[in-house]
Amino acid sequence: MRIGHGYDVHRLVPDRKLILCGIEIPYEKGLLGHSDADVAVHALMDAILGAAGLGDIGKLFPDSDDKYSGISSLTLLDEVIKLVRARGYGLGNADITIVAQAPKLSRYTEEMRRILAARLLVDADRVNVKATTEENLGEVSTRGIAAHAVVLLEEARPRVRAL
Ligand code: MG
Repeated sequence: MRIGHGYDVHRLVPDRKLILCGIEIPYEKGLLGHSDADVAVHALMDAILGAAGLGDIGKLFPDSDDKYSGISSLTLLDEVIKLVRARGYGLGNADITIVAQAPKLSRYTEEMRRILAARLLVDADRVNVKATTEENLGEVSTRGIAAHAVVLLEEARPRVRAL
């Protein structure tokens, strides 16, 4: 088994859609970024890549590359999953925490987990999505949205070690 951690933050700005775990959330602001700025999926991808020892999404999908402009982060997640499966890893489980003062996200977390599990090709009980505020103590969670992810990968085909 291999563990990975991911963390990401994006700034909230007017005139952008707010996309979290692939869901468009009605809100007066959205997250700024080169892709759809889905901060939760970004943290999740970094956790998966971290567990597999494959670097991070900045290296894999550079924001200097126009082909990633406005792209759905779920499409990038599909790429990440393909990559780790090709290396012989399967997802054990993933746990994601979204940190936002507003809007209220708890009513979306079940749908988020279903969407992510489908993309990760696992049962929904292997994915958990939580949302929390920082009790108005955090500048990041007031001016933007942050997300943490922890992932366990399982080696589907254990590699034989040379003696
Ligand atoms: Mg990001």
